[in-house]
Amino acid sequence: MNKLKEKVKEMEGRILKDDPILESAPDNVIPANSTDPEIAYQMVRQETYAQTNPMLNLATFVTTYMDEYATKLMNEAININYIDETEYPRVAVMNGKCINIIANLWHSPEKAKWKAGALGIGSSEACMLGGISAWLRWRKKRQAAGKPYDKPNFVISTGYQVVWEKFAQLWQVEMRTVPLSDEHITLDPQKAVEMCDENTICIVPIQGVTWTGLNDDVDALNQALDIYNTRTGYDIPIHVDAASGGFILPFIAPHVKWDFRLKWVVSISTSGHKYGLVYPGLGWVVWRDKSFLPEEMNFSVNYLGSEIYQVGLNFSRPAAQILGQYYNFIRLGFEGYKKVQKESMALAKYLWDEIGKMPQFKNYAKEVVNPLFIWHMDPEYNKTAKWTLYDLQNSLQQSGWMVPAYTLPNNLTDTIVMRIVIKQGFTKDLADMLINDIRNAVEGFEKLEYPTQTRLAYEREERQKGRVFTH
Ligand SMILES: *Cc1c(COP(=O)(O)O)cnc(C)c1O
Repeated sequence: MNKLKEKVKEMEGRILKDDPILESAPDNVIPANSTDPEIAYQMVRQETYAQTNPMLNLATFVTTYMDEYATKLMNEAININYIDETEYPRVAVMNGKCINIIANLWHSPEKAKWKAGALGIGSSEACMLGGISAWLRWRKKRQAAGKPYDKPNFVISTGYQVVWEKFAQLWQVEMRTVPLSDEHITLDPQKAVEMCDENTICIVPIQGVTWTGLNDDVDALNQALDIYNTRTGYDIPIHVDAASGGFILPFIAPHVKWDFRLKWVVSISTSGHKYGLVYPGLGWVVWRDKSFLPEEMNFSVNYLGSEIYQVGLNFSRPAAQILGQYYNFIRLGFEGYKKVQKESMALAKYLWDEIGKMPQFKNYAKEVVNPLFIWHMDPEYNKTAKWTLYDLQNSLQQSGWMVPAYTLPNNLTDTIVMRIVIKQGFTKDLADMLINDIRNAVEGFEKLEYPTQTRLAYEREERQKGRVFTH
């Protein structure tokens, strides 16, 4: 008995002494001893607990809602490594099916049963793969022609997402940017073509520009490029970065030609975890046909007589996202995706309308082409306002909303804008709550006697550029 008591006492002492509740969570060195799983769970959970309610996070493009069965499927597959094709050959086949389905949504002309494509951790990896393939194809041709191949470049608008800067730096490919301007709020096709030369590996138009929500006109670019390529004898291709638009356009604007229906479009990338409606991280890239996927990138595997491609930067990767994507295709079907995307569009348009009606604001574009949009202060109102959109961001944050304010790239940096991205799971109710919170905040700002800190900073900067304010 005594022995047992002693033992308990000793254990209690140990628990007390090492009780992680009384110690800070490790941030430098691995703890010397183990922690009870329940306590470890609480510690980790508490540290990450709902900084922002994902439903109120209108900053992210990434899926914050999947239904119960999708979540169950993905959780059940959490221990499957996609790369173990021998152990899980059906996952590789399912991946091939997803690529086929996406390729056909984009009007692939590929005759073969298995389309040339790859999955990635997100659009970033998918963009890289598209860019690398363009670079390798160009290099091969230059080598064959006995011409130098040490100065590749690609052309994109200044509205590019940061992955293209990474691509340029990591692969040492010069990035030539076409400035966005008040006249050309998307890629100017003529300017893009003028920036090309014999060293241009591709032009990259964007569907769903991260900064503005707009679409570059791929059809017009294709036409301009066709004329240019015919005149010069080059064959500069197009890679479409359709991170958002790739899963929007096929459903809500099927008549718009931006995909493989256009002659010079040879590869397209998208994010499965954006409007593909899958939890992060999942991206896809598809080539026009096998001939555009350089052999050096293509590690093909034979399974049951079908050729499955293995193309990617990473080796091991989670398989659960593939199950989630394939589930969505079955569960929603074309009509289901169309409904979800149309609802997001309708809510985005509703908010766009309501915000556009407020005298303090002006929408950036004349239309909403993806379920996201930006707006700024009305230029007249801005001359006398005592606040900025950064103040509105802070104020909304206090009601739990995440609605980011930022300045546009390069030529347009004078303008502070605010962006809303609508995703599946958002509702009319939430939209009305948001509008209310925006109106209340603005009402408060209108009563200000003195300019806010962010306003003072903004005016200081603008005055240096010669702008005049009237208060
Ligand atoms: C989001 C985005 C990317 C990067 O995609 P991830 O899925 O986050 O890796 C690339 N290009 C555009 C246009 C994007 O919107």
